[in-house]
Amino acid sequence: MKILELTFNQLAETLATQYGKGEYHAKIICREVLKNGNIALNNIPEIDRTSPWFKSLKKNLCYSFGTVKAEKEESGTRKFVTELTDGLEIESVIIPMHNYKTLCISSQAGCRMGCTFCETGNLGLHRNLTVEEIVGQIFNARFHFGENIRNIVFMGMGEPFDNFDNVIQAIRVITDQRGPDIAPRHITISTVGRIDGLQKMAELNWPLIHLAISLNAPNDKIRSRIMPINNSVPMIKLRETLLNYPLAVGTTFFVEYVLIRGINDARAHAAELADYLRPLPVKVNLIPYNPGTCAEFEAPSEDEIIRFRGWLVDEHVFVRMRSAKGQNVMAACGQLGNGSFKME
Ligand code: SF4
Repeated sequence: MKILELTFNQLAETLATQYGKGEYHAKIICREVLKNGNIALNNIPEIDRTSPWFKSLKKNLCYSFGTVKAEKEESGTRKFVTELTDGLEIESVIIPMHNYKTLCISSQAGCRMGCTFCETGNLGLHRNLTVEEIVGQIFNARFHFGENIRNIVFMGMGEPFDNFDNVIQAIRVITDQRGPDIAPRHITISTVGRIDGLQKMAELNWPLIHLAISLNAPNDKIRSRIMPINNSVPMIKLRETLLNYPLAVGTTFFVEYVLIRGINDARAHAAELADYLRPLPVKVNLIPYNPGTCAEFEAPSEDEIIRFRGWLVDEHVFVRMRSAKGQNVMAACGQLGNGSFKME
């Protein structure tokens, strides 16, 4: 039994069918495993550990979400590597906020989207992560590192909609109040704009889950150059899909725009971007390009970022500048998956 893959109701059902137990025991097990990190189910006062059903349950427990293999920290931003049971490695980042932490998690080992500004894109796709491996990153952040994780962003390795079913089940598990209890409004899924994924999300009708669209370009010519997905989903089609998306009243899409010197940072690009976004409720996150280990592009200077932001403000676009937290440990946007874990 893989407890990290189950919601409370699914666990209760499993306990009922396999052991003749019900919600009472499911509550205890959820509390111990998902809230206290007691994966071995040791020392639970309410349960007689010598009873045959409990012995059998313990025998059937199976955890395969990987082990933390390395970590690196800079100014409170901590990147950690999890070694999966088949030897593949994934990366996650704990980012300090005001009085809690955000966890940036991976949904795939590698990625097949091939965005040219992204380290993970250079790896190609190895495989999708299981539900347990996705939830396990939160488990490790909380219980291996003891962090108060309240926000989850699917912005690590992989395109979440490329692993749709497992990502959705993981969200069901982590938002369960009797389990990890992350509020849906504290979850953001970042996507390059896979239309099928957006449509399936629309059908699920989870209006509180935030969507971040990794746009990064003002027009098709530039976007196709840096994001191959644009060859099959041009920007007009992406916008049409977003216009039909059932956003909760008063909420917006986040639009991520990685600013790359000489590629997408001109005055005309700001105007073109503003025109494209005008019909959509959006907040733009302006992110400086982070040169990776095999950097093809140049990072903008701080002045260039401020200048581009000013142009967007002039165009009445709501824009926030995102600092490249963790840049020196290769934990900033688009820098995961570079094997930079040689600890000094
Ligand atoms: S930016 Fe995201 S979708 Fe693009 S290659 Fe990197 S991980 Fe994949």
